[in-house]
Amino acid sequence: MFTNESILLKKGWRSDRFWTHPIAFKSFLKFIPLYFDTRALMKSQFWPREKLDRYQDARLLELFRDAKRVPYWRDLLEKVGVDHLTPREVLARMPIISKQQLVQQPPADITDESLIERSDEDHTSGSTGIPFHFYHDWHASLRSFAITERIFRTLIAKRFPIVYMRARPRNGFTFYRHFWFFLRSYNSMHHRLEELKELAQQFPAGFILYGYTSWIVEAARQMEKNDIKLPIRNVVVAGEHLIAHDRSYIERIMKTELFTLYASREAGFLGYECERHTMHLSEEWAYVEVVDIDNRPLPSGKEGRIVVTTFDNRVMPFIRYDIGDIGVLSDTPCACGRTLRTLTFKGRTSELINLDGRVVSLLDVAYALGAFKDSILQYQLVQKGPMSFVVRVIPGLVFADKKQHIEALLIRMLHPRVQIRWELTDTIPASPNGKAIYFLREFNRV
Ligand SMILES: [Zn+2]
Repeated sequence: MFTNESILLKKGWRSDRFWTHPIAFKSFLKFIPLYFDTRALMKSQFWPREKLDRYQDARLLELFRDAKRVPYWRDLLEKVGVDHLTPREVLARMPIISKQQLVQQPPADITDESLIERSDEDHTSGSTGIPFHFYHDWHASLRSFAITERIFRTLIAKRFPIVYMRARPRNGFTFYRHFWFFLRSYNSMHHRLEELKELAQQFPAGFILYGYTSWIVEAARQMEKNDIKLPIRNVVVAGEHLIAHDRSYIERIMKTELFTLYASREAGFLGYECERHTMHLSEEWAYVEVVDIDNRPLPSGKEGRIVVTTFDNRVMPFIRYDIGDIGVLSDTPCACGRTLRTLTFKGRTSELINLDGRVVSLLDVAYALGAFKDSILQYQLVQKGPMSFVVRVIPGLVFADKKQHIEALLIRMLHPRVQIRWELTDTIPASPNGKAIYFLREFNRV
């Protein structure tokens, strides 16, 4: 049957069933289905577009069928009426769900409880508000592992071990070539570089360094300051925005090429950068839309909110889930030959700064401040009122010389009447999962 083609070993043998078999699941035998699923994904990224579209339709149909086992989604699907509609018509009639809306549902309503025993629990740390607890079922973890494996095989340094800097473990990274380097935040990087150096000695031929942007920037800064060289073959960043200044700085100091990922803890690995440095969507894993302020899907090339429907996680489906990001989709063919559509990340909705009659994306502010790497080592914009900000800064050597210039630039970007107060510090706390917090709103909008 076409539907499961890429997770099918041969007729009647689904690789996800093999993967979740009690004997295979806890042993090296897992590598067999993983090998086949990864191989299928390496091919499907080059499929003709029509074949990918048909594949996504089939996966949506399966998803709607499975989601009927979950009360919250059953009610919504019944309201829409699945019969006589194409999968995309059903999807277009489904409401868009925010994280806040899902968090407010009783867990039993948004979970297929019969699958909980064969699932892993996880949560988002709540850097944007309330923590969100969710499950990933073991069937889905095969596809999730294979998607991450494809990401690493797309890098130039395909076969090298991966040193993974994180605050806590994450699904999809427990292979023989993944090595954890636990870190609370970029703040700890300056006294942990020696340890990273020690770990790196295990890999004299080189390794891939993976982490949040702010961590990698700080690692590069410490390497430069202490004249340390590490055999880094590629850098992979995720979880925070990346501006051009940071990319070129990291590539210059670490003497390698950098690749970005687009991922979220609850929705998985949604996009990866190809050799041409274009972000392709993992369309075998999720259906991604971009919608306008009235929740209408936008055509290719238009900027809007990113809405995600994941195919594999049956224990807790995500259908038209507003992931809290802004982006632009494109179906313009990429020179790499992959037919997967591409995405340009444009910031987070929680990082839109609302001023008196004006909205500014933090990403634009980040681009502007990125030019002052020697003045500002790290910053945090705290909005104290509609028109007043405290800017926390870990100052660099030339901050005092540039302060007035930077302030004028900020006023020009934000609003002519904006009030700015500077606060110099030597540490800015990170979020519980270790990401840098660049923007905080500390007042209630009326
Ligand atoms: Zn490409």
